[in-house]
Amino acid sequence: MDGFSLIYDGFDPGAEGLREALTSTGNGYLCTRGAAEWEEADGVHYPGTYVHGGYNRETTILGGLPVLNEDLVNLPNWLVLQLRIEGEDAIRLADVELLDYRHELDIRYATVVRRLRFRDRSGRQTALQSRRFVSMADHHHAAIEWTLVPENWSGRVEVVTAIDGRVRNGGVARYEQLEGRHLSPVSPRTFGPEVIALKAETRQSNLYISEATRTRVFHGGQPLPVTRALHQMEDYIQQVLAFEMRQGAATRVEKMVTFYTSRDPAISDTLVKAATSAARHTDFAGSLERHTAAWDELWRVCDVRVFGNERVQLLLRLHIAHILQVCSLHTADLDAGLPARGLNGEAYRGHVFWDEIYAFPFFNARLPEVTRELLMYRYRRIGEARAAAQAAGFRGAMFPWQSGSEGTEEAQRVHLNPLSGRWEPDLSRNQRHVNAAIFYNIWHYVRTTHDQTFLSDYGAEMMLEIARFWASIAHFNTEHERYEIHGVMGPDEFHEKYPDARDGGLRNNAYTNVMVAWLCSIAVKVLSLLPASRAEALRGRLGIGDDELATWQDMSRRMFVPFHDDGIISQFEGYADLKELDWDAYRAKYGNIQRLDRILRAEGDDPNRYKVTKQADTVMLFFLFLHEGLREIFERLGYDYRADTARRNVAYYDRRTSHGSTLSFVAHAGALVAIDPESSWDRFLVALQSDVDDIQGGTTKEGIHMGVMCGTLDLVQRGYAGTHVREGVLHFDPRLPRQLDSLSFSMQFQETPILVTLTGDRLTLAIHPEGVSRPVSVGVRDDVRELCPGDRTVFELSQDPAPTGPPAHD
Ligand code: BGC
Repeated sequence: MDGFSLIYDGFDPGAEGLREALTSTGNGYLCTRGAAEWEEADGVHYPGTYVHGGYNRETTILGGLPVLNEDLVNLPNWLVLQLRIEGEDAIRLADVELLDYRHELDIRYATVVRRLRFRDRSGRQTALQSRRFVSMADHHHAAIEWTLVPENWSGRVEVVTAIDGRVRNGGVARYEQLEGRHLSPVSPRTFGPEVIALKAETRQSNLYISEATRTRVFHGGQPLPVTRALHQMEDYIQQVLAFEMRQGAATRVEKMVTFYTSRDPAISDTLVKAATSAARHTDFAGSLERHTAAWDELWRVCDVRVFGNERVQLLLRLHIAHILQVCSLHTADLDAGLPARGLNGEAYRGHVFWDEIYAFPFFNARLPEVTRELLMYRYRRIGEARAAAQAAGFRGAMFPWQSGSEGTEEAQRVHLNPLSGRWEPDLSRNQRHVNAAIFYNIWHYVRTTHDQTFLSDYGAEMMLEIARFWASIAHFNTEHERYEIHGVMGPDEFHEKYPDARDGGLRNNAYTNVMVAWLCSIAVKVLSLLPASRAEALRGRLGIGDDELATWQDMSRRMFVPFHDDGIISQFEGYADLKELDWDAYRAKYGNIQRLDRILRAEGDDPNRYKVTKQADTVMLFFLFLHEGLREIFERLGYDYRADTARRNVAYYDRRTSHGSTLSFVAHAGALVAIDPESSWDRFLVALQSDVDDIQGGTTKEGIHMGVMCGTLDLVQRGYAGTHVREGVLHFDPRLPRQLDSLSFSMQFQETPILVTLTGDRLTLAIHPEGVSRPVSVGVRDDVRELCPGDRTVFELSQDPAPTGPPAHD
């Protein structure tokens, strides 16, 4: 690895799936795994191409029962380029002797590069360099360039260039028994001598996908005359380009690709559009130039610099690059949600979960347009959320745990335990807390951006409908004089129900109840933040009466929170009665016990019986809220919030958490920032390395973890720089880890770009001279300053936070 490169030397079949996921190239519209162009899906290689919203539903008959799933579809493979030398079989890695092999992701420009030299069975030595990218400038375009050098031979070669629609979803071994066919062929077609194109359709959702490509060969900058032979089938089209190569002379092959779907704006027939666009595609160099310029612009806004640890810097940048490959400004018109595993693989079927809560702080402060659109994805599905609430006997809007095309519940009802080989019931849909996350995300988006229009037109409606849902799922326990919520799950998926209970769900998950108390306190004031006429209209349309507002107010004061052991918040009611697990024994027996649920179930036991937590649940509270904020919520509820509440609770759950979701490392790192900086840093490092090192042993090859990647950046911004918005002021509570010399990043607050630089003893804030003319307020503790475009101010971070004088004007 160097500053901007993720480099793998040598080919390792066992690691290829992971490398493919991590060297994916995308632009926020389309993303393709870093598979070698000449390989097919075969257990080692898995070419996969995905677009936002490219879902399809299929039913599998499993043990006689129909199981319906909606999947993000693996789309026709546009990568195919194969090399045949002197009429022999196409070169594959397994069939040649590799003399050199390097597989690399150029992080700065999201370009995947393979450099290899190989000796084939006839003793010919050839060098091949492949470079490819999915354009960040022209989002329907992608390009591959091969440079071939025959080292000890001259002769005739054929390059096969194809679009392969015979693909299926087969990227996740656990789903192997489920239907993987999602595409029907429509037609192959040629457009002139050079452009080939293929159109396919998803089998149930009737989404058209068309890809076109123009492949040319160049020698010394000049196009080389080639003969072209066409072969087409209904779901596959190829051209074979034949030409001569001379020993020692480099020949370049350029495959310029276009990609359209019927979900795109401004489209009629996708096939013609793709073909027309292919004819207009410039050459590789021109396209690459525009692509790199677009990335340069993105880095200016999105880079997060840390000084003093090169590997941390590299991994943060790797995360930034991947995040932007999944969600960029190109995502804005796509009605896209945030797929938990990116567009890099098929785990979780491209579904949208609560992981947004980890991801949005990064976008809010850099590309708020992206957050807005991801929130609009929710708004457009509020009808389904209302219907779901109603069907379950509730009011308001109940957004699903797993969301896909339409916003209906897509969580599966059974899942395969790979350890036992058994299909087990999946009760995870009871994670209603996703609705608190959506509320929280809207609130923080609006506070960071000051996007009152969004709040007024869409946000407030979602917030009110979510509050209404919570008020209807809650009931008032007259004995305790508290509101309670039963039948739900917290983020900890190891606890789906009480041991031996028949039905799923738990009573009074503390995280959920505290979130609900908080959101109710906000919901009562949301209307007052809107223009009066809009507030009145919305209230009238939703039929929100005074009694409803009074209930929310009451809930903010009287939600029930269970406790045990003198001040430990019980993850849920009854948690204290569960058995302790012998963690050392399980570690000794199994090594990695992150997925204790699978281990226990495979043993015929049940994680529901133990004080074992998959991931931050109660600890989420200390990650999402500042201590003062939590104190306020708890005190309003009439519960003690002591100086050591955070420390004791985080320590308690830390000992009982297996971190079976890597999201958990982010939450624990965040919760520990102020309590135990060394442990916080350790968790931060684990989160940072979790995908690149695939610490869960096989999950990353099925897709990167968007929440974790964004979460590590949030830890720098919200954790270590301590950014938070309070009463319209952007506050900083800087805690630079001793492992770093300094950090710096740009962020946007209320449309104003601010450059933040933090060293051990000073925080410098510089407002971009071209910011909007409105001043912004920034502060460290009580020292609040107003800054205008072009201002720069320094906070000396001594024990005494005395101001260092008024902001200087540059
Ligand atoms: C986690 C969830 C998360 C989902 C998707 C699960 O393993 O437990 O919290 O939303 O993965 O990332």
